[in-house]
Amino acid sequence: MKTNVDLQPYNSFGFHAVAKYFAEINDIQELEALIHSDVFKNEKHLILSGGNNVLFQEEYFDGLVVYINTKGTKILEEQGNDVVVRAQAGEDWPEFVKRMVSQSLYGIENLAHIPGKVGAAPVQNIGAYGMELKDSFLQCEAIELSTGNKRVFTKKGCRFGYRDSVFKNELKGQYVITSVDFLLKKNALLHLEYGNIKAYLEQNGIESPTLQQLHDAICAIRDAKLPDVKQIGSCGSFFKNPVISVAQFEALQKDYPNIPHYDEPNGKVKVPAGWLIEQAGWKGWRNEHVGVYEKQALVLVHYGGGTGQDIVELAKKIQVSVEEKFGIRISPEVNLV
Ligand SMILES: Cc1cc2nc3c(=O)[nH]c(=O)nc-3n(C[C@H](O)[C@H](O)[C@H](O)COP(=O)(O)OP(=O)(O)OC[C@H]3O[C@@H](n4cnc5c(N)ncnc54)[C@H](O)[C@@H]3O)c2cc1C
Repeated sequence: MKTNVDLQPYNSFGFHAVAKYFAEINDIQELEALIHSDVFKNEKHLILSGGNNVLFQEEYFDGLVVYINTKGTKILEEQGNDVVVRAQAGEDWPEFVKRMVSQSLYGIENLAHIPGKVGAAPVQNIGAYGMELKDSFLQCEAIELSTGNKRVFTKKGCRFGYRDSVFKNELKGQYVITSVDFLLKKNALLHLEYGNIKAYLEQNGIESPTLQQLHDAICAIRDAKLPDVKQIGSCGSFFKNPVISVAQFEALQKDYPNIPHYDEPNGKVKVPAGWLIEQAGWKGWRNEHVGVYEKQALVLVHYGGGTGQDIVELAKKIQVSVEEKFGIRISPEVNLV
């Protein structure tokens, strides 16, 4: 275990924040030993994977950061069209997707290039291009931090929602996910409907894409749209897309006939937060240290030299102005620490 570790390389916003204690976990035994240690029992703790969805609000984390870096992937079962694959929590997510695609396994290709690690993926039920982690999730194994007991969470037990799960709510901070099992397919239909996948394929003369071509297309689309966190700090989408009632949506549509939207189950409507932020005039706004990404208003960025508080203040101003203009309160997707 180390002390006074700068977390700047461990968060994609690139903010400096010093952790009082820092433990890197490379196997489950290390984790089990750590859970029973005095430091763990006496200090507040944070489970950290790739740090692509956390905002350190303060420049000092007065506790223990548990950095999950366990590796390993294996096929557990093959039956007919089904293949069950287990990945350890510290596996890099985009690399894992790449590997599954190269082995012609379908199910997570639309989630290509989402930065982070496998163990964090169920926490917010990562999603992109019309698919979510839950679509190919079978179960995950986790360790309860207060007892060290192992527990298996089924899909139902995870209570997945839009960028949401039991790990962000009732069980927040209580479990560390140690591995995830995926149910992948040897053959399946590709999902090309969402976003600009079709347009991209057309532009590149691809009529009926292979699994690999779809994966590569999604990587290219994302690269063109999102900042490279090695150059400009960010956590991707900072806010969730708000889900509103049909009545509220219809009232808004009178004033904004072109308002983009997606129908949701239960008579609700999802409105892109990026559009709301852009309409409120924030797209491309910046000061010396932080700003709103010029190509996608949903992404708040750190140009360097700033602090977590700069982003917190910017996010608050955006929330207020969106609420004043549209009567919709947008809430952060990012985990505030
Ligand atoms: C450029 C960019 C683009 C992005 N695009 C998308 C996108 O398209 N779709 C999307 O859904 N997300 C997106 N994100 C957000 C991010 O990639 C995901 O949330 C990802 O799952 C975060 O993984 P991580 O390993 O970095 O998690 P971290 O940021 O380290 O942790 C995230 C949360 O999970 C908890 N946690 C981490 N590991 C574990 C574990 N093993 N057990 C229990 N709790 C744990 C942490 O305490 C924290 O609360 C994007 C981020 C960036 C920077």
